[in-house]
Amino acid sequence: MQDKKQSLNIAVVGAGITGLAAAYQLMTLAKTEGLNLQVIVFESSDRAGGVIQSEKRDDRIVEFGPDSMLSTKPAGVELIKELGLEKDLIPTNTANRRSMVACGGKLQTLPEGFVMLAPTRVIPFLLSPLFSIAGKIRMALDLVSPSNLPKDDETVESFVTRRFGREALEKVVQPMVGGIYVGDVSKLSARATLPQFVEMERKFGSVIRGLLARGAVERSQERTASGARYSMFVSLKNGVQSLTDQLERIIGSENIERATEVLNLKKTSSNRWILECATAVRKQEFDAVIFATPAIKTAKILEQVEPLVSQKLSAIEIASAAVVNLLYKREDFDHPLDAFGFVVPSSEKRSILAASLISNKFPDRAPSDSVAIRVFLGGVLQPELLKRSDENLIDTAHADLTHYLGLKSKPLSGFVKRYPDSMPQYNLGHQARVEEIMSITQDRLPGVFLAGNSYHGVGIPDCIASALRTARATIEYASAPLNVESVTS
Ligand SMILES: Cc1cc2nc3c(=O)[nH]c(=O)nc-3n(C[C@H](O)[C@H](O)[C@H](O)COP(=O)(O)OP(=O)(O)OC[C@H]3O[C@@H](n4cnc5c(N)ncnc54)[C@H](O)[C@@H]3O)c2cc1C
Repeated sequence: MQDKKQSLNIAVVGAGITGLAAAYQLMTLAKTEGLNLQVIVFESSDRAGGVIQSEKRDDRIVEFGPDSMLSTKPAGVELIKELGLEKDLIPTNTANRRSMVACGGKLQTLPEGFVMLAPTRVIPFLLSPLFSIAGKIRMALDLVSPSNLPKDDETVESFVTRRFGREALEKVVQPMVGGIYVGDVSKLSARATLPQFVEMERKFGSVIRGLLARGAVERSQERTASGARYSMFVSLKNGVQSLTDQLERIIGSENIERATEVLNLKKTSSNRWILECATAVRKQEFDAVIFATPAIKTAKILEQVEPLVSQKLSAIEIASAAVVNLLYKREDFDHPLDAFGFVVPSSEKRSILAASLISNKFPDRAPSDSVAIRVFLGGVLQPELLKRSDENLIDTAHADLTHYLGLKSKPLSGFVKRYPDSMPQYNLGHQARVEEIMSITQDRLPGVFLAGNSYHGVGIPDCIASALRTARATIEYASAPLNVESVTS
């Protein structure tokens, strides 16, 4: 291990949740292992947090980026607790915990017990007007059709039509999965975006049987569980940004260089790394560098030092989207608003991808006489929408909401936030591609590490898990005797 007096320098590029969580973990590990470590985070924009951004507007919290996270993936809630923010955790409201799907110009409730792509409760499924009788029979065939998982990856479209038929794909999976990734189900990888369902087919021969088995296990765990239980999605009272704000406070502002875009990476003769920034070439040499930037950005930085890694990273496609936050008077709706939101299949030929009734989901996101809605637009299927002006995007979102929710008046306020090149696409072969990238990076760029939403999951807990794993690997590398010798020689 490192001579404890020896100083280690590690750079983290990107101050989104991944970069901040990685820097925090590096500092925590250094403290417990008695290492003398300096971490510097480089961030191209003038604020930390990346796509996470919560602001007070009209006397309420407005979420411009993510509004919640899954509690079933533990890394998110665990970090929140470790940072002392547990008291601010909020579950989703218990009323109206359901989703709707646009179908033939109207909103239909997703049948109770429907999990992403398959039903788990018979009566609500049979009674649901969302699917035709032929569609329901085809979906039920999953229970008896033998498993015929291909040896290699397949697209989401292929997996879902194989198990459940086209109606399930077009009415539910395309808008749901396509909505999370703002992607194209004919290109997205089933193994990377629906791993638990692929595994259910492999293990149980049927996704529905797999879901029923998982439900039975969860119910028995609930009966014996003790301690705090969270709803499936959680947020923070003052917005998701309180998580990145807290990380920023602990890391220390002096260790985060804002408005400092990293352009290039160079290797020194002693196997250390130098960063060229838009502002200047940094003289400081780093023992290791973590890139917590989207793959496409990392590809650009590595173009000169390692063209092969750069080329492989560029193959991870990325999409852009916009979020429009709208506030309405409650009395202006001709709809009971008895759900958390709705998704819009591409077959509906509308502009919006989804609408989240954020004031139904979490407390205090709007005054009691008002309704706050977040509308998603753009993505792989409609990138041209992002060229429109903010006013036009607000009008477009309002027109589609009026169509489905019978609005009688214009919004009280509207805020638009664009997310250019922010949503990685886990297309066919994604897992194999990532494995290869990680392996050649380790071989050809020792001391360079990759983390973030481009690789092993796009949700906030996935990014945190990726950051913590990468920080541990970085410390292990940088403090190994061989590397200490080479960096000190
Ligand atoms: C609109 C939207 C809604 C979402 N909703 C949810 C949700 O509700 N729940 C959920 O779990 N997930 C959600 N996600 C996904 C999740 O928020 C993201 O995957 C995650 O926050 C990404 O974090 P990151 O740190 O990996 O990347 P980013 O947040 O993109 O951070 C990367 C950082 O790197 C910086 N950077 C880029 N290039 C350079 C460079 N050359 N030099 C220095 N810095 C650079 C960028 O400025 C940025 O700050 C959503 C994403 C979006 C866009």
